[in-house]
Amino acid sequence: MTEKTPPVCSYEGSDYQTSFWDEGGRAYEDTAEVHALKKLLPAGGKKMLELGAGAGRNTPRYTGFQQVTLVDFSLTQLQQARERLGDSPEYRYVAADIYHLPFGESQFDAATMIRTLHHMKDAPLALKKIHASLKPGAVFILEYANKLNLKAILRYLLKKQTWSPFTLEPVEFVELNFDFHPQAIRNWLAETGFKLERQVTVSHFRIGFLKKIFPARFLAALDSAASHTGEWWQLTPSVFTRSTVTEKVTTPGISFFCCPACGADLPDTPPELVCPKCGKRYPVTGGIYDFRSF
Ligand SMILES: [Zn+2]
Repeated sequence: MTEKTPPVCSYEGSDYQTSFWDEGGRAYEDTAEVHALKKLLPAGGKKMLELGAGAGRNTPRYTGFQQVTLVDFSLTQLQQARERLGDSPEYRYVAADIYHLPFGESQFDAATMIRTLHHMKDAPLALKKIHASLKPGAVFILEYANKLNLKAILRYLLKKQTWSPFTLEPVEFVELNFDFHPQAIRNWLAETGFKLERQVTVSHFRIGFLKKIFPARFLAALDSAASHTGEWWQLTPSVFTRSTVTEKVTTPGISFFCCPACGADLPDTPPELVCPKCGKRYPVTGGIYDFRSF
């Protein structure tokens, strides 16, 4: 019954949060994301789903939501998130693969997926799974890595790069790292049942010497001003989109969790969840639900 899905990129055991964000000179990119989220996040709601949450860098920014469910494939990333955010009913930590999300139909009022789609070999399938977890009218904020960025265009025109930034197919520049064409993203969102409302371009100034000369806050403020042009053209390496879920024909699931193996409703019974239909068992260890083996 298990579908054949692509390999998953895992950050298990990675010090990504420290090496890339905290000490990697990424203050500009991080602040630019704060501005983008401020423009796009809904005022609030009950349940927020954060896909590819990592160590919870963005999680405290989802103010106004009663509960945030952090999903990541890496248990160690979620452990770092839990150390950072604490163990309160406000947060739920779920280790799962986006192709096999363990949630009932239409459980969430909103979702975000930031710096995560670029690890998806089958992006349309991931979008389909996310769509199923969201309620009708829910807001979905998706960030993607844009292959049609100025640097890639210049390199292609100067013949320093073989792949074309102008074609719709994704480019896999490193194994399980993909850049997408904005039009391909718009097509997939529409085909999945999302209505695109806004596009915000981010990281206009992801250039080493600018980051050395100017303070991160100054560049991020300039970036925020420029991001409004994202409605008309998208030439930055990172693009944020806000879409809403259009009408759905499916009925909402009875329970919050469902079995990723067989799809049955799954009672929330820590320290172990047992599927009443197929008998699969899912442990809850150190406050983290683990749905990765099925
Ligand atoms: Zn099952």
